[in-house]
Amino acid sequence: MELPFAESYRIKMVENIRRSTHSEREQWIKQANYNLFMLKSDHVFIDLLTDSGTGAMSDRQWSAMMVGDESYAGARSYYNMKNAIREILGFDYFLPAHQGRAAENVLYSTIIKEGDVLPGNSHFDTTKGHIEFRHATALDCTIEEASDTQLEIPFKGNIDIARLEAVLQQYPKEKIPCVVLTVTNNTAGGQPVSMENIRRTSEVCRRYGVPLQLDSARFAENAYFIKTREKGYENKTVKEIVKEMFSYADIMTMSSKKDAIVNMGGFVAFKSEKLWKACQKFCIMNEGFITYGGMSGRDMNALAAGLDEGTEFDYLETRIKQVEYLGKKLDAYGIPYQRPAGGHAIFVDAKKMLTHVPKEQFIAQTLAVELYLEAGVRGVEVGALLADRDPVSRDNRYPELELLRLAIPRRTYTNNHIDVVAAALKNVFDRRETITKGYAITREEPIMRHFTVELEKAR
Ligand SMILES: *Cc1c(COP(=O)(O)O)cnc(C)c1O
Repeated sequence: MELPFAESYRIKMVENIRRSTHSEREQWIKQANYNLFMLKSDHVFIDLLTDSGTGAMSDRQWSAMMVGDESYAGARSYYNMKNAIREILGFDYFLPAHQGRAAENVLYSTIIKEGDVLPGNSHFDTTKGHIEFRHATALDCTIEEASDTQLEIPFKGNIDIARLEAVLQQYPKEKIPCVVLTVTNNTAGGQPVSMENIRRTSEVCRRYGVPLQLDSARFAENAYFIKTREKGYENKTVKEIVKEMFSYADIMTMSSKKDAIVNMGGFVAFKSEKLWKACQKFCIMNEGFITYGGMSGRDMNALAAGLDEGTEFDYLETRIKQVEYLGKKLDAYGIPYQRPAGGHAIFVDAKKMLTHVPKEQFIAQTLAVELYLEAGVRGVEVGALLADRDPVSRDNRYPELELLRLAIPRRTYTNNHIDVVAAALKNVFDRRETITKGYAITREEPIMRHFTVELEKAR
């Protein structure tokens, strides 16, 4: 008999969580103005809002925290982080930051000016926010196949090289501070980018004299997919693949709350000493001195250990197989999602599921609220709320896809929890014909509205 697959770790410490009743949840979600970001986490049973900073650190990481060096300048912990970044990722220069968006802020304060254009593959929401806030444009050049949720291709996160090249031809290079390649492509469904695509992107960038930035929150999951799906990489280690991926990049930004498996932290790394120096003042002004940049010494230590653990095959296999496990459950129930299963999340195709809710009433948000009501499971909308308004016309943008993202925290839940999530979603699926009304906005911010938006039931 073939042995079943099992996790590559065991549990040493537990955190209690609590179920709730349907009527409690009805009251809580109303008090939260139907915005799941506004719920108390105590009112959530299984929290799949994000895989960011929600992972479980290892005994090795916790022990690294105990020997953190909290010196203001030149801390040992800074050098531990520097060594890990050089050895695992291949960058000689970096600035710590308290999380990914802070790293973006340090970098973009230095290189973006009004009217600039940054082409890429489905920029992450904070990345797009930082670009648009500076009156520059985030141009999405993701391959067209990414918007067909039922199409199974191995590297659905790729950038369309021809479209990218057309943009680079259209604008003078002074207007393009960098190309932003996000690995994995979160917005398109945690879909990976192939090594070939990364290499070809870098060739095009070199040809036009434009630097390549890898937005790298989930670089290790991307490397796992390259190993398991791309010809020629099956016998390379994840660490070898990671090294090659970053050999093509000039800059990387990192939310370490993802693949470095820490609860808080980030950095921006550079090949160019000159750019590193140019960015330092924004680090000092907004984050902290260049050897801690908003991070405690102990957190830099945990991050260094996390980069090493996060690029180990056994860990990645455990993680990605759990996401796949949820995908297979949904397959059995006939629930449509972005295929194939992504690295960190399942993205349920809300448009295909709730066909009676008009797009003006926020289809994916409606599904997110229904799932919460059903079982206290919290996912997140990736649809019209997130897409926000057009910066010029201020009209609502209605994206092609309305997705409910169920992000799986690293090393946190068991497959029993995943079974509950899948069953709850099936119950919603079974009564989908009865869900005909969504939500209307009663209050919103002018940028990144989805975090704080207030909603009411549509009339
Ligand atoms: C999470 C994330 C960010 C932003 O990082 P934070 O740590 O949340 O500030 C940027 N890009 C990508 C691809 C991400 O996943």
